[in-house]
Amino acid sequence: MRVFLDIDGVLLGADPDKPQRAALALHALEFLEFVVARAEVRWLSPLHSGDAAAATEHLVRHARMSDRERLMGLAAKVRAAKFGADRTTALPADGAFVWLDDGPSAVEMASLKQRGWLDRWLWVDTREEPEDLLRARQWLEKRLR
Ligand SMILES: [Mg+2]
Repeated sequence: MRVFLDIDGVLLGADPDKPQRAALALHALEFLEFVVARAEVRWLSPLHSGDAAAATEHLVRHARMSDRERLMGLAAKVRAAKFGADRTTALPADGAFVWLDDGPSAVEMASLKQRGWLDRWLWVDTREEPEDLLRARQWLEKRLR
């Protein structure tokens, strides 16, 4: 089973002190730790196609100093998916995956629907729901068993 993770709006939420700024979401480290121990994890982050180093840098830049070492260690276990405008082209054809994202595009939603894959996508939005990674973890626990 592969787990595809978006970054902005999922692992990065809003900074509680400056909501227009991004910050590592609550529970993000524990969540990543959980998921890299149980699945093959891929970034599916719109601005980081095929570039795990850039994805990691983006993530780490918004984390507190005290979280950075642990975060880099976890991010090193994640590879970057490669895609064009439609990220669903990076999803495995056998359907053995789940995808956590706050906002697939209309085209991506249509593609999931057409292939009968809507149930493999979980809406997670840590800007709207700061505790959302706890719910995401519970959802994943059922899927990764
Ligand atoms: Mg996003």
